[in-house]
Amino acid sequence: MARQLESAAHLRAHDYAWLVKRWRALAKREKWRLRRFATADGFSLYAIESPPRKTSAPSLYLSAGIHGDEPAATEALITWCERRAKALEKFQVLIFPCLNPWGLQHNNRHDAEGRDLNRGYRRRNVPVIAAQKKILRGRTFDAALMLHEDFDAHGVYLYEIEGTRPFWGEKLLAAAAKHVPREPRKMVEGRACRRGLIRKSIRPDLMPDHPEAFLLRYGHSGRSMTIETPSEFSMAARVQAHGAVLDEVLRLLKGQTLTS
Ligand SMILES: [Zn+2]
Repeated sequence: MARQLESAAHLRAHDYAWLVKRWRALAKREKWRLRRFATADGFSLYAIESPPRKTSAPSLYLSAGIHGDEPAATEALITWCERRAKALEKFQVLIFPCLNPWGLQHNNRHDAEGRDLNRGYRRRNVPVIAAQKKILRGRTFDAALMLHEDFDAHGVYLYEIEGTRPFWGEKLLAAAAKHVPREPRKMVEGRACRRGLIRKSIRPDLMPDHPEAFLLRYGHSGRSMTIETPSEFSMAARVQAHGAVLDEVLRLLKGQTLTS
């Protein structure tokens, strides 16, 4: 039965209204704060926060759906939060469940105006990003994870921007690789990729149009990571791979609190 329900959910992975309905139900059940923070192309965008029961709780930033043709990312985030709601009580989590609803609905990487929003974090004229930055202002997180997919990928891979040590990339990839094989290519998008890991130290001025991961790394977290699943693989396996990475992030965040 659970499997049937799960596949039904996957079939609706491009149905934004359905996605929002699930987030609303979860937020209501768990008493998480759900707020509309912007509208774009006729869709409302939401941010969700688990209330910090303890201010010392580890903090986590999660987002998905900035590219609308990456449905396992948005699907995995809601599925995982539904499943891990109890565990998340021990964390402070800020979630952007879908940053490009028009794209998700139309299975399109870009927004209705043809922009790649993930190259727009330095632009001032993108209202959704401006509204998102306003929520983020003055906030820091122990870790930030952005969920993505890549239709050219041959396996799962992860970008980790150098920052807080020890790095987590290897452990997150090992968790994902239990469900989807690692990216075998040695170069991905012009960057060296080692067993699925692309780790770089990046100066903020090197890239004229920032992706979200840059904003997070340079403004809000010592850990900014982007997981990419291959969108030609099975939806169920991709959702599981994202879920396994999220589980590993929680595990590592807990360990960090114990040792610090
Ligand atoms: Zn993407």
